[in-house]
Parts: sequence; C-alpha cells; structure tokens
Amino acid sequence: MNVLVVEDERNLADAICQILKTEGIKTEVTYDGTTALTLAKSGIYDAIILDVMLPGMSGLDVVRETRRAGVSTPVLMLTARTTTTDKVDGLDAGADDYMTKPFETPELLARLRALTRRTGDVLLEEASYGDLKLDLTTHDLSCGDKTVHLSGKEFEVMRMLMSSTSRVVSKQDLLTRVWGGSSEVSENSVEAYVSFLRKKMIHLHSKVQITTLRMLGYRLEIIE
Ligand code: CA
Repeated sequence: MNVLVVEDERNLADAICQILKTEGIKTEVTYDGTTALTLAKSGIYDAIILDVMLPGMSGLDVVRETRRAGVSTPVLMLTARTTTTDKVDGLDAGADDYMTKPFETPELLARLRALTRRTGDVLLEEASYGDLKLDLTTHDLSCGDKTVHLSGKEFEVMRMLMSSTSRVVSKQDLLTRVWGGSSEVSENSVEAYVSFLRKKMIHLHSKVQITTLRMLGYRLEIIE
C-alpha cells in the first residue's frame, strides 16, 4: 500500500509517516497544497491523508480538483477545527472521511484501513482502458483472452498511463513517480520501458496504443 501524506506541520507529517512505515505501508510526504494536487492527480496512491490548512492551496481545493480530474483515490482529511461545517465542506469536496487533530495512532490506522477496504475490493484490483485490463495484484496485462505479465516498472508506467487517460503523462512525471526522481535514471529509461510496453500491447492485439506527444509526453489512445 502506498499512501500520500500531505501536512505542513513537518513534525506531524513525519510522525504520521513513521506510524505508517511501522505498519509496512509505503509513504510519500509533501508539505504544500500545490505539490499535493500534482501528486494526487497521478492517481497512483491507495489513499491520501490530507490536511485542510496548507500553504499554496487548501486541502479542500486539493480534493475538489483531484476529484474533478477523475481520480477516486480515498482521501482522509485532517482538520484542526471541529465545527460541523468544516467536516461537511470536506466531505462535500470529495473526501471520504475526516479526522480531527490531535488524534491517536490506532484511530488513524483504523480509519485508513476502513477507507482502503471500502474501495479496495472494487477499485484497486483492476484498472482498465479500452480493451486492456491491468490486474493491480498480479501485474498481468490482458486483452480478451491474451495475457502478459508486466515487470515492476512496466506495471507502474502502465498504471500511471491508465489513471491519467484524459491527460498527458510527461516523461518527467514518470521519472519522478516511477523511478522516484533518481538522478541515475534518464528519460531514455522511460522511453525504453514505453517501448517494452508497446511490444507487449502489440502482442496482445490491443486497440490501445501509447501515443508520443512531442515535448509533452505520453497518452493512451484507442485506435479504431
Ligand atoms: Ca496545516
């Protein structure tokens, strides 16, 4: 499980990450709303823990824009305020649950489990686009009755492309999200993995193809 933690109080953010890590949950942290929106829209997280009051952009706007972009990742809002309107605003904006700060560790973990369970059965097992289906558990990509297995990186690239069907995914986004922005990896690696994926998609006789948009990046398209 991969959770995005968005909280500008760094001590709290680090504490949350620490708690999740001890549970074997992978985390990524950001301290401002603008970066949070970019990351959230990638759609690659299993859940997002999101503070309301943030520099750059409020948590409410982050969740609203993320939903508008068609990303349904479960969002747990953190709020220091306790008035009913704040809670209602958060849920109206598209959050799935909220928690008032300060909170106890077991409560955080219980709510996170509930959130990922709620969507996990339906949304997290499979992603699809056109005639392609990506099994998020086994990393198998299939079209009709044909199936190929994707390597770890191929899987993550395909998952990003599938979760961004209406938008373009830039090479830089892929580098950051799939390779963690490692300086040893260049855009050539991204191109290589896209080329592996293209070969596998041809093997599957899929009508979906990965289109290169010069200077912009990649997008999945259905070729009739
Ligand atoms: Ca805050």
